[in-house]
Amino acid sequence: MIKVCKFGGTSMANGINMERIAGIIGQDSSRKFIVVSAPGKRFGGDSKITDLLYETQKEVEQSGTVGKAFEKVAARFERIVDELHLAFDIGSVLRETAAAIEREKSPDFTASRGEYLAARIMAELLGVPFLEAGDVIFFRGGRLDAQRTYEALGAAMKACGRAVIPGFYGSDETGAVRTFSRGGSDITGAVAARAVGADLYENWTDVSGFLACDPRIVPSPVGIRELSYRELRELSYMGANVMHSESIFPVREADIPIQIKNTFRPEDEGTAILPTVPLSSRTVTGIAGREHFSVIYLEKSLMNEEIGFAGKVLRILADHAISFEHMPSGIDTMSFVIDSDFLKDGVWETLKREITEAVRPDRIDLISDIALIAVVGHGMTRSVGTSARLFAAIANAGVNVRMIDQGSSELNIIVGVDNRNYARTVCAVYDEFFRSDAPVPLS
Ligand code: ASP
Repeated sequence: MIKVCKFGGTSMANGINMERIAGIIGQDSSRKFIVVSAPGKRFGGDSKITDLLYETQKEVEQSGTVGKAFEKVAARFERIVDELHLAFDIGSVLRETAAAIEREKSPDFTASRGEYLAARIMAELLGVPFLEAGDVIFFRGGRLDAQRTYEALGAAMKACGRAVIPGFYGSDETGAVRTFSRGGSDITGAVAARAVGADLYENWTDVSGFLACDPRIVPSPVGIRELSYRELRELSYMGANVMHSESIFPVREADIPIQIKNTFRPEDEGTAILPTVPLSSRTVTGIAGREHFSVIYLEKSLMNEEIGFAGKVLRILADHAISFEHMPSGIDTMSFVIDSDFLKDGVWETLKREITEAVRPDRIDLISDIALIAVVGHGMTRSVGTSARLFAAIANAGVNVRMIDQGSSELNIIVGVDNRNYARTVCAVYDEFFRSDAPVPLS
């Protein structure tokens, strides 16, 4: 049995937490490979090491040398080594790191040093080899070079038997360090699990798994014990940010289950993410949502007969590097739901002009301040009347639905409402599907 265990920033935040990790690893001899994040916040208002490193990068760009921000980074790591009573010469590693940051002058290299230093210390603490991610995780064209990585990383992991691997980074075609997007150590963990053919990918964080909805909106929502990969992908893409939404792909290819666990409450069961889940009695597995979307709305008589209409609009969006989230359409109407950030600084005006020239619509409007709420669950396919319950609950809350999109998979229904109605809608949907279902809390 081989488990790959990834520990997040809070779990790595200080020496005491790292001791906890050592305890967790010591309890189970199948926990052979450990992937770590950089130390995160220790308390509200504290800084994440990765954020301090991005500040360090700015300092290097401005003055050519590391400055105050790196001093904070160094102090954090020195303190961790002290707290752990390790005979590890962190001082010289930090000096080499500062020199390398000044030499490389690369944002990705600088940002990656949090994971690098954290993994070096964790390897010392556990007495387990450190496996340098830059030597075994490869990017090509800005993306993970999966095949090459699985081969090199898998071989290196098997040769070590046990290892600590820094999360978040690898190297590109030129040998330079490249990072994944923020929160990317989750991806490293998944890649490592896939590369070594692990039986389980344990993702240790500071919560006891996924909750049925955002606890900032509904106090103490029920926990989700089991999720399918596809449900996870839908929920995490829409804002349930327990795990990076892209970390699903490597493990999904090999049907490796993921277990989300809480470093601070290891006895809690957490959430299991599985290739398929037995259809539970629950219709809806979870609710997630995000605010600040815009909808480009187009109307044109006989649009249905105009071949290539959507294609022309999509071409324009692609030319502006704008990705769209949903495209609900009618016979003579078409809408494109887009993250509002894409439309700032005059971009909307340009798009409006280009779309008008390209497809001559009868009407083109921008509807702003839309929140999207995803109601997710495999159970929805089986139960007649889910939509009726959903929309009745939203109507009873006095909320007007601005947009509906149900993927043909029937795994989710996406509802668009005005931003100001976001929380109210989430509460209404939660009450409808969870309060009446006699839920079992996680812990
Ligand atoms: N330390 C990186 C971040 O803060 C990566 C990670 O923690 O997964 O985004």
